Amino acid sequence: MAITHNRWIIHVDMDAYFSAVEQRDNPAYLGKPVIIGGQGGRGVVSTASYEARKYGVTSAMPMVEARRRCPVGIFLPPNMDKYAQTSDQIRHIFEAFSPIIEPLSMDEAFLDVTGMKYLYPDITDIPRQIKERIKRELDLTASAGLAANKFLAKLASDLQKPDGLVVIHPGEEIGLLAPMPVTKLWGVGDATARILKKLHIETIEDFRCCDLKTLEHHLGTCPIELYNLAWGRDDRPVIPDREAKSIGSETTFTMDIWSKDEMRGVLLALAGKVGWRLRKAGLYARTVTVKIRFSSFRTITRSVTLPSSLSLDEDIYQTACEMINKIPIYESVRLLGVTVSKLGQGGRQISLFEVTNERQEKITAVMDQLKDKFGEAIITRGRIL
Ligand SMILES: [Mg+2]
Repeated sequence: MAITHNRWIIHVDMDAYFSAVEQRDNPAYLGKPVIIGGQGGRGVVSTASYEARKYGVTSAMPMVEARRRCPVGIFLPPNMDKYAQTSDQIRHIFEAFSPIIEPLSMDEAFLDVTGMKYLYPDITDIPRQIKERIKRELDLTASAGLAANKFLAKLASDLQKPDGLVVIHPGEEIGLLAPMPVTKLWGVGDATARILKKLHIETIEDFRCCDLKTLEHHLGTCPIELYNLAWGRDDRPVIPDREAKSIGSETTFTMDIWSKDEMRGVLLALAGKVGWRLRKAGLYARTVTVKIRFSSFRTITRSVTLPSSLSLDEDIYQTACEMINKIPIYESVRLLGVTVSKLGQGGRQISLFEVTNERQEKITAVMDQLKDKFGEAIITRGRIL
């Protein structure tokens, strides 16, 4: 009952991601037990380096316990901005190999590379090259699994951690899965495992041999999905996150401009457009990027990722201005652009630049209503004029 090999899925999982990033950026931490987690009294471990795992430190363990087990450990608070930025860089590498990417978290993703088999006669070159690029460009290691479906790909990426690469060729899954504990099947948690144990089902092979009716009787639900997984069958597609990744606006001038005052005026108009679209989509952004193209066509971008989400024009504008103010202008400018990214639905309309922002919010709301009613061009704020 071997699976047909009509798909190729890769699961990539960074090794001890947060602590690996810290070790990379602080050579003094290399080879040492590094433990990332909340520093408060009730903090838990988010990632432990492989050195720390030797002391029995695991993720989700209370930090107090981690300190007890590993007194020599280096305990650090998570630097989520840095991990998110690195995650974007990893994403760029993935994009070179497949447009169908489903991220599971900052350090894990599925890629459907089925269509790539024409570009890569040896499909195993893809995960190998992904790993190589992550190592070369980001100085981090990842483990990858390549198989005919998501379940097997994820299982494979975990088999040779860290820095692993496991390919499960069609047919191999039958023997590979057989001796594994049933808890390897997605959906078998502790409670289900206890029930199965009473039925003397501990391995996937045991599970396969059990009659479905008996299983249904004891589990209370039809176990057909688990049964399929036990035989290495899984139809779930890789679902790419296609929603807007960024919202931006740019303008090319009919005559190049020089002065920063003029640029700030343009930034205000661009921030107004971007902010409006952001709010219409019900989104908040954490990263603001400005783009400048000079008369020589040299183009530069500057980005800043903020600690909290924004959606107000004023915040986008101020953040963009701070970046522009720092850029030396040696030649005239032919294009300016503003883009926001790291979009999410969470966030409050808190202005980052003013103590009280209620007035700001009200002005924004009124302007949005007017723009909705009369079109975007109706309101040009004083400063632009
Ligand atoms: Mg990981």
